[in-house]
Amino acid sequence: EGILASVDALTDGDLGRALKRGDLTGKKEETLLLFPAEGKGPDRILVVGVGKDEEVNAEVLRRVFGRGVRVAEGMRLRSLSAWVETSFPLSEAEYAQAAAEGVVLAAWRFKELRTQEDPDKSEVDVLEFALISQGNEEETRRGLFIGLAQARGENLARTLQARPGNVATPTHLGEEAKRLGKEYGLEVRVMGPKEMEEEKMGALLAVAQGSNQEPRFIVLEHRGAEKDDPPLVLVGKGLTFDAGGISIKPAAAMDEMKYDMGGAAGVIGTMQAIGELQPPINVVAIVPTCENLPDGNANKPGDVVTSMSGQTIEILNPDAEGRLILCDALTYSERFKPKAVIDTATLTGACIVALGNHPCGLLSNDQPLADALLDAGQTSQDRAWQLPLWDEYQEQLKSNFADMANIGGREAGTIT
Ligand code: MN
Ligand code: ZN
Repeated sequence: EGILASVDALTDGDLGRALKRGDLTGKKEETLLLFPAEGKGPDRILVVGVGKDEEVNAEVLRRVFGRGVRVAEGMRLRSLSAWVETSFPLSEAEYAQAAAEGVVLAAWRFKELRTQEDPDKSEVDVLEFALISQGNEEETRRGLFIGLAQARGENLARTLQARPGNVATPTHLGEEAKRLGKEYGLEVRVMGPKEMEEEKMGALLAVAQGSNQEPRFIVLEHRGAEKDDPPLVLVGKGLTFDAGGISIKPAAAMDEMKYDMGGAAGVIGTMQAIGELQPPINVVAIVPTCENLPDGNANKPGDVVTSMSGQTIEILNPDAEGRLILCDALTYSERFKPKAVIDTATLTGACIVALGNHPCGLLSNDQPLADALLDAGQTSQDRAWQLPLWDEYQEQLKSNFADMANIGGREAGTIT
């Protein structure tokens, strides 16, 4: 029926024969490449399975479109157009959004630091993508627009993460924020160490002091609603390299510590998507960013520092630095009188011990907000799992010499 009948006619019955012989069953991401006779429609037709209709969701479609991009790249093709058979439970806007996301995310690759093509991979970029509307063209366009903006934002986050520590420095993140500000009319403020001292960000500065790279404190604002409408504040951890400080990490896989700015990358990518979509809300992004290195100036186990909130912290472990830069960012966020604060961070290895690599851990003192985030994670298939944030855990942070310690021992490491 429908599109499949048309494809069958264009290929003189190839599709029908493939189905009859069981060469194509329609299971998820299964592919069949067909070649219509000369002059009959497109040069190539790729049929991709989506699995059972009732199990199709946005994630399945993203993977299906990603598969299409991979096949096109393998054949060194630069453009593709798609037709989706929509008997599954998604609106036209939803499948258009998933299609755009699948294509743009799959087409991303990081090659800016190579001087030569990788012989094992096709380096041909898919440059054009067309999606044939099912009838509601406006809905299709809207879905594509949203999907494109979100996927581009994600790709910016991936690019910033992929850049190594000597490229993506705190200064570089500040420059990227300024670039976004210019491009999308966002308000930008990038503070250096002097202004951070004036703000008394003692915890953040303590982490930064072991590195020659100057820290930055980035504030990006999107004003889409009335001025007095309380903003949503997004905070992202921006450790552009975390060697662990004096509590230095083992050498194996330490290169991966360039990813310790994943929260910052996510927040900056989100602000790009917001810049493109211009939603009618106020959003403030806050990125504290620095390096955590062990030199003669580095903070030492047992050092006591005063955070921007005025509380003292005993740094029992300099490798637990994310919380030290984020606490000052959270205190700073209070001046915006936000309606909600969402802080994202590569914060604890303990989180991976507890949950593995599939979900992220979610901690919140506001259950409706937590529920909204858990829901959003389900919708996007970027899932979260909530951990308790009970007062009892506070005991573990008691310090003999300061208001609190920066670590609370092995138990419930993510929570404390
Ligand atoms: Mn660390
Ligand atoms: Zn870290």
